[in-house]
Amino acid sequence: MKLNPIPIPKRLWMFAEQYDIVKVPDLVFKDNDNGQARFRENVIKLQDEVKGWPRSKEQQEQTFFHELVHLAVSMTNKPKLSDDEVFIDSMASLLHQAFATAEYK
Ligand SMILES: [Zn+2]
Repeated sequence: MKLNPIPIPKRLWMFAEQYDIVKVPDLVFKDNDNGQARFRENVIKLQDEVKGWPRSKEQQEQTFFHELVHLAVSMTNKPKLSDDEVFIDSMASLLHQAFATAEYK
């Protein structure tokens, strides 16, 4: 099965809030994270591919969906689900697979 590359947006909106998506060079070195959903700053930070820390396009896509699901779930009437990393990662993997395998004609 051929997987579609999924473009990672620069910004998006959920409800009335704008969220910026930024790739940063040092997240993994400073915070030991490949991604962070910063609820109050309205930003998703993603570790960029840098020397000493290879990140495939698919890994970056997976991390983007993971952080997006954190934000989305935190805006629902079950925000505590955002603390459940297994649930968040399952939802992110399913969404990633759906978009990576989507056919448009
Ligand atoms: Zn997480």
